[in-house]
Amino acid sequence: MSLLDRHRAVMPGWMPLYYGDDALEIVSGSGRRVTDATGRSYLDFFGGVLTTMVGYDIAEISDAVRAQLATGVAHTSTLYLIRRQVELAEKIARVSGIPDARVFFTNSGTEANESALLFATNARRSNQILAIKNGYHGRTFATMAVTGHRGWSSSSLSPLTVHWLASADRLHGRMAGLSDSDLIDAAVDDLREVLATVTAGDVAGLIAEPIQGVGGIVHGPDGLLGAYRKVLAEHGILLIADEVQTGWGRTGEHFWGYQAHGVTPDLITFAKGIGNGFALGGVVGRAEIMNAVPALSFSTFGGNPISAAAGNAVLDYVLSHDLQGNAQRVGSLLLAGLRDLQYDILGEVRGRGLMIGVEFVRPGTSEPDPAATLRVFELCRTGGLLVGKGGLYGNVLRIGPPLTLTEDEAREGLAVLVDAIATADAESR
Ligand code: PLP
Repeated sequence: MSLLDRHRAVMPGWMPLYYGDDALEIVSGSGRRVTDATGRSYLDFFGGVLTTMVGYDIAEISDAVRAQLATGVAHTSTLYLIRRQVELAEKIARVSGIPDARVFFTNSGTEANESALLFATNARRSNQILAIKNGYHGRTFATMAVTGHRGWSSSSLSPLTVHWLASADRLHGRMAGLSDSDLIDAAVDDLREVLATVTAGDVAGLIAEPIQGVGGIVHGPDGLLGAYRKVLAEHGILLIADEVQTGWGRTGEHFWGYQAHGVTPDLITFAKGIGNGFALGGVVGRAEIMNAVPALSFSTFGGNPISAAAGNAVLDYVLSHDLQGNAQRVGSLLLAGLRDLQYDILGEVRGRGLMIGVEFVRPGTSEPDPAATLRVFELCRTGGLLVGKGGLYGNVLRIGPPLTLTEDEAREGLAVLVDAIATADAESR
């Protein structure tokens, strides 16, 4: 029985849907490359799922984890001080941009958002949350409730009352075709209308990804969150930035996605890349919100000694090697290479730094073409390149490699992508 069949026989769910009968088993990795169980090597343009932020088998990170393991203490409990955890919290508070910030560690992005929603609803004594359509925030009741993506959401089971704002999607829906300033005006009108009609202004917070990742790398113009913030401030509504994908320099120009918007959130959630594969997430936010109910900042495994050792090494590496600068440089090269392409199935190339989306459409229209997307995805894999796919309509190729990607690797991956897109385009005629 193959591993895939054994998986299907005993595990529920989603994974086999991604590659179907061609599911990969990754058995080793080095730098930006992974090897599967058949010995085939791939350049990983998705970095796991934006989780392997620094790369595979990075000595500084492995050494830090090994040093922690060598103490014999993989975990004690939440009852004791954990030196690496405190050190990491100090560093994250420092880089957060939030004055006098507090940090709470979790094991995942879902838990980070769940915790941020708890902090916000408690602080404001309201269970009402504003969320953005096409956003993705996790897999618990509350985080699914604020996930506005038809493939991922089941908000009918929500413990929250969620009010929806339009996504800044420039190809589909009510924001399609708008200029930057018109889009910001329309988004602010939308927010005002929602607040004035279905709420009495007594809303706890707005949760937003600075760039919608699972939703297909959809982002509004710079300043959009700042424009929202002005309206939110009139009502005392908190801003939660979900930086699970956008944090730590991935977007190149900025360390955090929110910084493109001239605004400082009240709470920031993080996960994925900060552990470089080890389970680590959390919330960094304003002290008065996070200190209000001490019992909310309790997690048996959140910030455990192994994850905290990894997190410290990752953050040190990101800062000392200026991976934000690398994301900007190498991301610009990739974006420029993709934007140069002229193919009928190419709807839009968008993103920032090393967070890039390529949207595929039926030639001559803005109609999503998930079949062409799937074809490009498969051809990339055949050509030795792993990428992601997603978007509300399943028609966006997602690129989020380790931030250490070199220019040569970017060119290598780009060549595979270009071949794949050219072939899919020719086949679409
Ligand atoms: N928030 C965002 C923006 C995400 O992309 C994800 C995962 O893809 C999550 C939250 C949930 O993180 P996790 O899968 O670690 O629970």
